Amino acid sequence: MSETLFSKIAAGEIPAEILYEDEEIVAFRDVSPQAPVHVLVIPRKPIPTLNAVQPEDAHLIGRLLLVAAQIAAREGIAESGYRTVINCNAGAGQTVFHLHLHVLGGRPLNWPPG
Ligand code: AMP
Repeated sequence: MSETLFSKIAAGEIPAEILYEDEEIVAFRDVSPQAPVHVLVIPRKPIPTLNAVQPEDAHLIGRLLLVAAQIAAREGIAESGYRTVINCNAGAGQTVFHLHLHVLGGRPLNWPPG
């Protein structure tokens, strides 16, 4: 898979406000926030969509959620509530084809989202 915008952010080639990083995962603020807290959690591994996740990625995908919960706690939205979203493919609004988990909170979030 060719380099994506997010793999360039993970490599430090494009600036972003990084909130967390380790050898597998990077989290940074969304440049166009849809809520007071809007963070993207990505694997360094360039998986294009949720459809491309393989059984051997199970641990990594679980860790994305654990990092999301850790960020929610740090950002002070764990108790008020937050939403995690993975948009899969264009019909669901995916625009960057490097798997990412949105963490949104800090305001009331309607359900269903529409
Ligand atoms: P999606 O629509 O699910 O593919 O989400 C892509 C997200 O990436 C959008 O919420 C964008 O605002 C965000 N985004 C695009 N470019 C950047 C960037 N350079 N830094 C941080 N977030 C970005």
